[in-house]
Amino acid sequence: MNFYPHSLLKLIDEFTKFPGIGPKTAQRLAFHVLNMDEKDVESFSKALVDAKKNIKYCSVCGNLTDVDPCIICKNTERDKTTICVVEEPKDVIAMEKTREFFGIYHVLHGSISPLGGIGPDDIRIKELLSRITPEVKEVILATNPNVEGEATAMYIARLLKPLGVKVTRIAHGIPVGGDLEYADEVTLSKALEGRREI
Ligand SMILES: [Zn+2]
Repeated sequence: MNFYPHSLLKLIDEFTKFPGIGPKTAQRLAFHVLNMDEKDVESFSKALVDAKKNIKYCSVCGNLTDVDPCIICKNTERDKTTICVVEEPKDVIAMEKTREFFGIYHVLHGSISPLGGIGPDDIRIKELLSRITPEVKEVILATNPNVEGEATAMYIARLLKPLGVKVTRIAHGIPVGGDLEYADEVTLSKALEGRREI
């Protein structure tokens, strides 16, 4: 590859760091950048830097936000008695797309995975427990329907039950081993509707 100019090689190399981008796609993207207007390239690079600089995690729910607390936590019209627990910020977006959930969220940033060396203390479970005030009536466990997601839901349910809060798990309909992110809105809203107490 040493017949490529250094800057081009570097650009291709940076693109290969993205998920799902192989060397061929990286090369195609790099050549595309070279063909772009300089102002578009500048605006793209500014968007990258700005997003990284301005977007933080909400100190309440752990969702991605550029204001703290995030707009969902701050919204007085959201039902603060119901907390929906999800694994990742992208799952909040999936839930919001259903337009069926009006409570608030708690993002764990992962799931318990003994094989992956991720224990309960490595995800935001303590933070969830500290949010269980008498105001909270229901916690919906919307972790992914795979082994780690189920184990995480069970673990959290055991901790929450003694606190006297209703704990529900979203229903099936989402394929086992699947990912919330890839469920369509109808499937996900059905799963939310059919949640059962655990
Ligand atoms: Zn928040």
